[in-house]
Amino acid sequence: PLSITDPVESDRICVCVRKRPLNKKEMAKKDIDVVTIPGKGMLLFHEPKQKVDLTKYLENQVFHFDYSFDDDATNELVYRFSARPLVKTIFEGGMATCFAYGQTGSGKTHTMGGDFSGKNQNSSKGVYALAAQDVFTLLKHKRYSDLDLCTYVTFFEIYNGKVFDLLNKKAPLRVLEDEKQQVQVVGLKEVEVSSVDNVIKLIEKGSACRTSGQTFANAQSSRSHAVLQVILRRHKCLHGKFSLVDLAGNERGTDVSNNDRQTLVETAEINRSLLALKECIRSLGKNNEHIPFRMSKLTQVLRDSFIGENSRTCMIAMISPGMSSCEYTLNTLRYAYRYA
Ligand code: ADP
Ligand code: MG
Repeated sequence: PLSITDPVESDRICVCVRKRPLNKKEMAKKDIDVVTIPGKGMLLFHEPKQKVDLTKYLENQVFHFDYSFDDDATNELVYRFSARPLVKTIFEGGMATCFAYGQTGSGKTHTMGGDFSGKNQNSSKGVYALAAQDVFTLLKHKRYSDLDLCTYVTFFEIYNGKVFDLLNKKAPLRVLEDEKQQVQVVGLKEVEVSSVDNVIKLIEKGSACRTSGQTFANAQSSRSHAVLQVILRRHKCLHGKFSLVDLAGNERGTDVSNNDRQTLVETAEINRSLLALKECIRSLGKNNEHIPFRMSKLTQVLRDSFIGENSRTCMIAMISPGMSSCEYTLNTLRYAYRYA
């Protein structure tokens, strides 16, 4: 079980893993749970049907993360240890970024709170809304209330290397970079907000028009990255920015049965952007010239999240526990595993 202590606030990058419960469909197919969370930050990936013998960790595959969340963890708990420690960063004039990573159906949108379709999901208890709540709380805090900060929200999607404004009827937007390497999404709609309700309404509106994939008929929007940004401005100037990113599903093209041209193009672009993201996170805060942010649109638009003294990132890797997902699960674990 997780010990509920406050997280360390010093790390630039925090990597967590979250296991979702087996769903009804998987249970009906007699899928087997191959993921065990034996302790804080640990994840055990074991052979199917093998009884988990706690004395035999070495014979299994053990992964270590900053935090690991079992299938009974709530969004609040996940939020508290992942994105929450980053909220303060944007008040101190920095950049914060939180990524939800994993295969389609592993719980990214559930965790972020961008799913407004089901009755089970309470989006006001997702990372988006919980972060917004904390932003509004801190705005009133005596330490920051004199700063005269205003809060804005943007919400956009990156699909096939192109940016679409989810708050403006999915208008396609251009990305420009000036000679100082400042990246700008031209015409991106920034809406001023003053309450969590405002933010939730915007997410609801934007989520409704996310791109659905052709390949995964029942998995909406699995082929695009969705980026929600909470921006603090002081007298119109940027003060801090929190980017909350619901990444495209990380399944590989070769695993997809229906490989039409469109799917191959999408997959190549997703692979490129996820690889670029990994490289950029690796060089986070090192302030060198070699941050490969131009490798993809995703990393390009998030450029200022990877530079500067005061940038912090957390990655929440989502895991489907079933044997039927084990290849994807291993891919996810290897991607997120900090020491891999
Ligand atoms: P993704 O965005 O990664 O494709 P979703 O967030 O849409 O996946 O999750 C797929 C399904 O599984 C949804 O119906 C969602 O409600 C459910 N789900 C995901 N994570 C959990 C969880 N931790 N607990 C309960 N249900 C979950
Ligand atoms: Mg999703």
